[in-house]
Amino acid sequence: MIIAEQEMMIRLTAYCVDALPNEACAVLLGVQDNEVIRVTGYRPIRNVANFPRSAFVYDPEVWVSIVLDSELSRQVIGVVHSHPTADATPSETDTKAETRNGWNFKTYWIMSLRDPHHPVVRAYRITDRRYNEQQLQVGV
Ligand SMILES: [Zn+2]
Repeated sequence: MIIAEQEMMIRLTAYCVDALPNEACAVLLGVQDNEVIRVTGYRPIRNVANFPRSAFVYDPEVWVSIVLDSELSRQVIGVVHSHPTADATPSETDTKAETRNGWNFKTYWIMSLRDPHHPVVRAYRITDRRYNEQQLQVGV
């Protein structure tokens, strides 16, 4: 199960709304305690896609800076990106992109801003190149 801190969710939502009409992307920070993954923060990553309204590409410079920061990279537990006009389900591009790069994070989030006043966040684990939804609970 994933537990996300409420205050962090509010900030993450504002970050994704600010990026509209483009997709936003970020790394999720947190800790795993047995079966519980607790997401406590995020770190924005600039979206450098050519067509950022319908795609995202992590800015490689920001990625490198995160990887080189040992304190920060130890906390990286997942990634998140937004869908400005689509549901919070993985697109075909998402499946290709996230399963090709060789990473395997504990959680992959998609935030749908189809209705920016009612964002929908869904969490997934990628296993055998497929997205499987995880239970996501927002708590304190
Ligand atoms: Zn997507």
